[in-house]
Amino acid sequence: MDLTWSPSEQAFRAELGEWLAANVPAGPLPSGDTAEGFVRHLEWERTLFDARYAVVSWPEEYGGRGASLWEWLIFEEEYYRAGAPQRVTQNGIFLLAPTIFDFGTAEQQDRYLPKMASGEETWCQGWSEPDAGSDLAGIRSTATRDDTAGGWRLNGQKTWTTRGAFCTHLFGLFRSDPTAERHRGLTYFLVPLDTPGVTVRGFGRLDGDEGFAEVFFEEAFVPDALVLGEVNNGWGVAMATTGSERGLTLRSPGRFLATAQRLIELCRERGADASDPAIRHRVAQAYIDAEAYQLQTLRTVTRTLAGDAPGAESSLTKVFWSELDVRLHDTALELLGHEAELESAWMKGYEFALSGPIYAGTNEIQRNVIAERVLGLPRK
Ligand SMILES: Cc1cc2nc3c(=O)[nH]c(=O)nc-3n(C[C@H](O)[C@H](O)[C@H](O)COP(=O)(O)OP(=O)(O)OC[C@H]3O[C@@H](n4cnc5c(N)ncnc54)[C@H](O)[C@@H]3O)c2cc1C
Repeated sequence: MDLTWSPSEQAFRAELGEWLAANVPAGPLPSGDTAEGFVRHLEWERTLFDARYAVVSWPEEYGGRGASLWEWLIFEEEYYRAGAPQRVTQNGIFLLAPTIFDFGTAEQQDRYLPKMASGEETWCQGWSEPDAGSDLAGIRSTATRDDTAGGWRLNGQKTWTTRGAFCTHLFGLFRSDPTAERHRGLTYFLVPLDTPGVTVRGFGRLDGDEGFAEVFFEEAFVPDALVLGEVNNGWGVAMATTGSERGLTLRSPGRFLATAQRLIELCRERGADASDPAIRHRVAQAYIDAEAYQLQTLRTVTRTLAGDAPGAESSLTKVFWSELDVRLHDTALELLGHEAELESAWMKGYEFALSGPIYAGTNEIQRNVIAERVLGLPRK
């Protein structure tokens, strides 16, 4: 593993750092999980896109810079260091896009990627259902073939759809062959949310934001062109998406390094570095863990570029970053004491961090995957 940055990578970092310093909004935007905040965040996404910083690793024809994975990591580090806004386009650009690059037809890539990059079309993930979360293969929403119309009729309900109340499109899994074995009868669809027969009902979260949605499908028609990958191979396509969600793209180390740095600053401001050895130890450990995650990611990138995709090992990464995020915020609240109730950024971050061990597949499920598929332990 080569830990030195090349002159062109350093130049990229410097140019980006200057641009961020000049362009990142001065104060925090309202939460991207509120209706008003979502619109404000999309304006920022447009600024990023116009400067060709929205999707740096994508090819130029889709709005990117053809940047390497290393440059993408640099982008993420500088982005979070600059305190730039949360990416409300993340489920599209970080989860769906890698899957479209791998499984999409040329027409689908040309049709969807540029508008996803610019934020003109925004994507939510329609997988979980009221009776199918961890057991994703248990989904009951159906896709029934309509030969006359040349497509599929969707029926059923999705839930926990992040920012579903604000997005324009949904990527969803539907059961297309009820007679097949559970994992084999699913198909992955790209669905415009204004399709007749689709109803989106937003609902609030415990932290007061309103970005979740339930999405109902009643005989909603989608043409064949909206199937991603092969019919009845939706499970295989979905597993590629979860690799991005748990592994490299959704939570890059830059995010945690920046939080660890803010934690150190908070510790110094409070004078706890001199007065409280126990807290000082926790802050130091949090910083070490963020650095360890950075090094682990550099290793993953090295392996990925050598053609050795991480596969089930992305579950290890997911457990690590989600538990690290809780520890970072928990330590900050400890430092703030009763003032934490009044200090909204750390408190909000803490509340969201608590959901990290649940979304992207719960950590209990990840531990099962690690036990069985990484360590080769028996199922029982
Ligand atoms: C902030 C947030 C955002 C989300 N965004 C989306 C989204 O955009 N789109 C989407 O489709 N979904 C989304 N989800 C849903 C998420 O994927 C599910 O919550 C998750 O998969 C767990 O499913 P569940 O809630 O039905 O819990 P359950 O599956 O009912 O699990 C309940 C508990 O039982 C445990 N458990 C279940 N099965 C096992 C087992 N076999 N072994 C050990 N323990 C087990 C679980 O770990 C958990 O602790 C989001 C969730 C959160 C919290």
